[in-house]
Amino acid sequence: MSSPESVYTRGVIREGKKPDELVSVIMAGVHGNEPAGRKAFDLVVPDLTIKNGKVIFIYGNPRAMAEGTRFSQGGANLNGMFKDDADLSVRERSSYEYDRAQELKPTLLSSTALLDVHGTANPDSVPFVIAEPGKPLAIARHLPYDIISSGYDEQQPGGTDHFMNKHGRVGICCETGPNGHEHSVPKAVESIRTFLQIRGHIEGETEPRDNQKHIRVKGMHRAKDTFTFREPFPEFAPVEKDEVIGTDGSNTITASDKGYLIFTSQLIVPPGDEAFLFGQDAPLR
Ligand SMILES: [Zn+2]
Repeated sequence: MSSPESVYTRGVIREGKKPDELVSVIMAGVHGNEPAGRKAFDLVVPDLTIKNGKVIFIYGNPRAMAEGTRFSQGGANLNGMFKDDADLSVRERSSYEYDRAQELKPTLLSSTALLDVHGTANPDSVPFVIAEPGKPLAIARHLPYDIISSGYDEQQPGGTDHFMNKHGRVGICCETGPNGHEHSVPKAVESIRTFLQIRGHIEGETEPRDNQKHIRVKGMHRAKDTFTFREPFPEFAPVEKDEVIGTDGSNTITASDKGYLIFTSQLIVPPGDEAFLFGQDAPLR
């Protein structure tokens, strides 16, 4: 059981030659109910030998991890706290997660690349990696995911990866699959090791993966009334132009074009909530 006093709350540093010239951060537990990253730390860090540079392994939200919940009790989504203060509500700015984000920012800015390891409560989700075109996507080409997805900095700003990208660094967020799934922890371990190899921190060659897809988020449907999906759609379910997705109150919602549905876990979505994201194929670069 993790506690707020874990060494990973302040960050565990592993370093090799010229530690100040190449610095990366690996983060786990930005959402406290996603254990894959934390378990991967326990498997990777103790025996790790860093050849070059410095790597900081750090927990995102130790309080929520101790509580086993996405946010701390009465708190806010840490992955939305990396916005400018003016874009946060008074309630958000008084949360534990806001304070934690301020603690994490200098660590993030001391590095040039971040791998943030997540999981999901949705048992039907598939693993994917969030990486924006350019340098993040070039690294994601090597990571063990069939789907690279981008466009979240605009649709869901304020995450750790957005913060890094905004500051001219590389921010990558990997979604390792359903919490507790047998593949989630191995996926997290492989993601961390491959990231460390590409960054030149540890020995080992990697190649860009075959059969990856880049799906870029183009839009979001927010429920105006109660939104009900036509049927349960898996994550990244392909849809054709004009295909019926569901109903929003008395309105039928169809796909504006050929694409994919993302974040479809709630079959019935209350008014005001995000119902789904819509993405489309994009080049792998
Ligand atoms: Zn998460």
